[in-house]
Amino acid sequence: MQKTIAIVGAGLGGLTLARVLQAHGVEATIYEGETSAATRTQGGLLDIHEETGQIALRAAGLHDQFLTLVRPGEDAKRVVDRHGSMLFDVSADPGSARPEVDRGELRQLLIDSLTPGTIRWGHKLASVQHHGKGGHDLTFADGSTTHADIVIGADGAWSKVRPLLTPAEPLYSGTCFIEIALDSSNQNVQASVDAIGSGTLMAVWPGQGIIAHRYADGRVLGYVALNRPEEWMRSIDFGDPSVGLRRVADEFDGWTTLLTAFVTQSIAEPRLRPIYTLPVGLTWDRVPGVTLVGDAAHLMSPFAGEGANLAMYDGADLARELVNQPDIEVALAGYEDRLFERSSDAAGRSARNLEVFFGRGAPQSVVALFDHS
Ligand SMILES: Cc1cc2nc3c(=O)[nH]c(=O)nc-3n(C[C@H](O)[C@H](O)[C@H](O)COP(=O)(O)OP(=O)(O)OC[C@H]3O[C@@H](n4cnc5c(N)ncnc54)[C@H](O)[C@@H]3O)c2cc1C
Repeated sequence: MQKTIAIVGAGLGGLTLARVLQAHGVEATIYEGETSAATRTQGGLLDIHEETGQIALRAAGLHDQFLTLVRPGEDAKRVVDRHGSMLFDVSADPGSARPEVDRGELRQLLIDSLTPGTIRWGHKLASVQHHGKGGHDLTFADGSTTHADIVIGADGAWSKVRPLLTPAEPLYSGTCFIEIALDSSNQNVQASVDAIGSGTLMAVWPGQGIIAHRYADGRVLGYVALNRPEEWMRSIDFGDPSVGLRRVADEFDGWTTLLTAFVTQSIAEPRLRPIYTLPVGLTWDRVPGVTLVGDAAHLMSPFAGEGANLAMYDGADLARELVNQPDIEVALAGYEDRLFERSSDAAGRSARNLEVFFGRGAPQSVVALFDHS
C-alpha cells in the first residue's frame, strides 16, 4: 500500500493498529499529544478478554509476551455493603479467560514493539482539514503541519478527528470517580487493606461506591464513585487534599469507617474522573479516508470492562482490512459495519452495568451480576 496513514493517539487502540499494520509491512505514523511514554502514569488494572483484547494481541504477534505480564491471583473479587458485610467473595481463577495486567505495562509492550520513530511524541492535533479524496491536512498545537491520505482517530474521548464524521459529543453519565490510594505499610489502615482480600473490593450502595484493588507488590489503588452533578463535584476544593477528601467522605453517611478510611486516608492526588459516554448505537456515514478506533468511536462507562479491549480489537480489525482490501473505501466500510455492531452491544451493556453498580438495586444487583457471569 502506497498511501500515507496518520494515526492520531498512542493509546492501546492506536498502538495496536500501528503494530498490526507494521507486522504486515504497512507503515503508519502515530501522532501523540503527550511528550513521552512517561508523561502520565498509566496505573490501573485491565482484564484482557479472550474474545477481544487477546485476539488483538495475537494478531499483533504479542500474545506470548502479554502472558508474561499477567498478574495471577489479582482477579479475586469481593462485594460488600456499606457496613462492610460480605455479600460475594470469589478467589482468583488461575486459568481465567480474562487475566489482569497493568495498563502501563501493556501499553509499554505495544510501544516497544513498533519500529523506532513510528510515534511522533509531542504532536497534539489541533485541527484536521478534510479534502475529500485529496487527503487530509493535520495541524498540531505547536503550529507544525503534515499531510496524510488516511487519518485514523485513536485520540480517545475528546477526539479531534471525530467531528469529521459526526457531531456527537460525550455526555456526562451522572457518575464521577475520584482516584484513591492507601499506603499499605501504614498500620492505621491495615484493617481496610485486609478487607480488600487479594484482588478487588467493591463496596457499593445506591448512588455511591468505593472500589479498591490490592496489587501483589502491596500497592492499593482505587476509586470513590459518587452520583452527583458534575458542577457539584468540581466545586469541591482539593487545594488541601485532606480537606477535600473529608468533604467527599461526608457524603458516605452511614458507612463504616473501615470503608471510609479509603477516602479519608487516601495518599493519592484526588483527581476527578467524571464518567462521560457517547450515545449508545452511534453510527455515521462513510467519509473518504477517515475513521475512528477505540474511545473516539464508542466512549462508554468502564462497567462492562470493554473499553480497552475493544480499542485493541478495533485496531487489529482495521489493520487487517487495510492490509487485505486494496480498495480503501471498501476496507473502511467493512470495518465500520462490524465496529458499529460490536460497540453498540458493548455500550448498551456498559450503560446497564453503570445502573447495576450505582442504581437503586445496589449492592444486591452487583452480586447478581457476578453470580451470573
Ligand atoms: C476509571 C476507568 C477504568 C477503566 N477500566 C477499564 C477496564 O477495566 N477494562 C477495559 O477494557 N477498559 C477500561 N476502561 C476504559 C479504557 O481505559 C479505555 O476504553 C481505553 O483506554 C481506550 O483506549 P483508546 O486507545 O481508544 O484511547 P486512550 O487510552 O484515551 O488513548 C488516546 C490517546 O490519544 C492521545 N490524544 C488525545 N487527544 C490527542 C490529540 N488531540 N492529539 C494527539 N494525541 C491525542 C492521548 O494522549 C492518548 O495517548 C476504564 C476507563 C476508566 C476511565
